Amino acid sequence: KISFYNGEFKDDEELRVMYQDRAFYFGDGVYEVIRYYDGEFFTLEGHLDRLMNSMSEIEIEGMERTELLDIVTELKERNTIENGALYIQVSRGIQNRNHAYPVDVKPVVLACINEARRPHSQSENGVHVITSEDYRWLKCHVKSLNLLANVMEKERAVKAGAHETVMHRDGVVTEGSSTNVFIVRNGILKTHPADNLILNGITRQEVLRIAGELDVPVEEAGFSVEELMDAEEVIITSTTQEVTPVVKVDDTIIGNGQRGMVTKRIQEVFDANIHKLNLV
Ligand code: PMP
Repeated sequence: KISFYNGEFKDDEELRVMYQDRAFYFGDGVYEVIRYYDGEFFTLEGHLDRLMNSMSEIEIEGMERTELLDIVTELKERNTIENGALYIQVSRGIQNRNHAYPVDVKPVVLACINEARRPHSQSENGVHVITSEDYRWLKCHVKSLNLLANVMEKERAVKAGAHETVMHRDGVVTEGSSTNVFIVRNGILKTHPADNLILNGITRQEVLRIAGELDVPVEEAGFSVEELMDAEEVIITSTTQEVTPVVKVDDTIIGNGQRGMVTKRIQEVFDANIHKLNLV
C-alpha cells in the first residue's frame, strides 16, 4: 500500500514520519476523510473546500488547494484499492516542540487510503446510540486533529454495546462523535444549524439537498434530547456511515424500531448519486 508523507509517496513498509511533526505534539492540524466508489471520488470538491476552510480557521498558511487535489488524485491512482476511504491531514509543520507557531516552515501533508465497504446492513437495519454531554471546545466547525473528546465518547458507545454517542450541549443535540444527527418530527427533517458547535458534514449537506429535491420540509434548528427520543425517525450521517437510521436512543425505541420512510427515500437518492458516479 502506498501512502504520502512530507512530499513523498512511499510504500507503508518504508514510510517514516517525523516525531517533531506538530500533529503529534499538539494535534496542530486539520484533516478530511474522502470516500471513493469504484475508483471515483464522491463529493471531492466539498471535502477540499472544507479542508481549505479548516486550515484558514486555524491559521495554517502556505498550502494550495491544487497541491492537495494533486496529492489525493495521485494517491488513489498509485493504489489498487477500488473502494476506499482516503484520509488526508495537514499539520502546521515540523519543528522542535514549542507552542508558538513556527516561522518559515511549510505545512506537512500525510495521506493514506484504506479499503472501505458500504454499510449496507446498518443502512437497512439501523443502529443503537447513546447520549452524553458535549464538553468539546467551541470550534467544532473546524475538522481538527484534536479528537480526544470524540474518541472517548465513541469508546463510551462501544462499551455500552451501541454504535455511536449523540452529544448535547445545554440540552440541545449537537452531533455524534463522528456523525451529524437528524430527526424527523411531524414530517419535518430537523438538524442542528451549521454553526461553531458542529462540523458541517458533507453528507449532512447532501442529505439537506436531497430532502429539498424530495420536497421534505427541512429545518436547520436545534432540538432537545426529549425531541430526539420522541422523534418519528432519527438519522446519523457521515462519509463512511452514509445515511444510517437510528432505531434506539439509550433505552428508547424510535418509531416502530425500524428504518423510517423519510430515511428510506433519502437513502434511495443518495444511493442513486453514488451509482451515477460510474455511469459515464
Ligand atoms: N461530525 C463529526 C464530529 C465528524 O467527525 C464527522 C465525520 N468526519 C461528521 C460530523 C460527518 O462529516 P462528513 O459527512 O463530512 O463525513
